[in-house]
Amino acid sequence: MKKILFKIGKFFDKYLGWHKCNKEEFDGVSYIGHCKYCGVRCLQDSQGNWFNPEEYRSK
Ligand SMILES: [Zn+2]
Repeated sequence: MKKILFKIGKFFDKYLGWHKCNKEEFDGVSYIGHCKYCGVRCLQDSQGNWFNPEEYRSK
């Protein structure tokens, strides 16, 4: 079951950009962590969602 959830999580990560991170650092504005699915460095917004600033820049 855990494996399936991980696969689903990976799918959403890849196609929708739903990253899942642990809080590792706090830069004074937002939390910073690394995605457990794809390993990218993400920031947490005020709603608690993780996003990768690089993806936003490329859109
Ligand atoms: Zn990710």
